[in-house]
Amino acid sequence: MLPIKISLVSLGALKHPVNVSLLEGWQSRVFKLHHDASVGHLPDADGDDWQYTDACLRGVLQQDPDADFTLGIINVPLEGNFYLRRLTDKTGVLSLYEMAEIVLYSEFTLEQYILRNIYELSVLFAANGKLIPSDYGSWAHDEVRGCLFDMNSSKSDILFSMHRPKLCPACKTRIAAKQVPAELFSALEQELPRIKKALFSRMTEWVKLHPIFALLIASASAVLLNIVASFIYEKAKRIYPWLG
Ligand SMILES: [Zn+2]
Repeated sequence: MLPIKISLVSLGALKHPVNVSLLEGWQSRVFKLHHDASVGHLPDADGDDWQYTDACLRGVLQQDPDADFTLGIINVPLEGNFYLRRLTDKTGVLSLYEMAEIVLYSEFTLEQYILRNIYELSVLFAANGKLIPSDYGSWAHDEVRGCLFDMNSSKSDILFSMHRPKLCPACKTRIAAKQVPAELFSALEQELPRIKKALFSRMTEWVKLHPIFALLIASASAVLLNIVASFIYEKAKRIYPWLG
């Protein structure tokens, strides 16, 4: 059953660049992603407040017969102000609307955002053999646990499951009660930690959290550098006396 074959389809103008090659090249035992379809223009929104309803998007996104499920990437408000909607057993849409700003402002990438949600959908698919559009709410929990199945009713809560996302014990138990491929959990444990903030961002955060300690380290480094420089200078003077 693994890897799950996923077809990625871009729907309308995404407004932000998305590195599709990086997504297609993501090494995973859980899913294999390919992108070879797009929809250039979207119809007008049919919901209140210019939201695109599931019914409207079902008419836009076609299921790829060669894939296990098809995921549309879009940048418009979705029904109920969700960022992820399962449209049918085999299709879903993931929106960048408001999420792109949340994710990019916190120094994550849109590719990490897409991958994190693809893992959520893949687990759902592996556990159910489909995306269960009518019952998915029962899988998500309101409490924010850094888990793939956090509900994230406040959209910015997704940030807690963007850096090394995981499955919480309750979700693990729920999935283990289903017939899933034997290697699913080990593959997830190996791959989910690869979705993480860049090293530079993590260092910056650490400095913000520990300013005094960071200052001490910087001062100690300066003294150490000075000692090393003096040592090199003394050695160099012996070899090249004209330096003195
Ligand atoms: Zn959970």
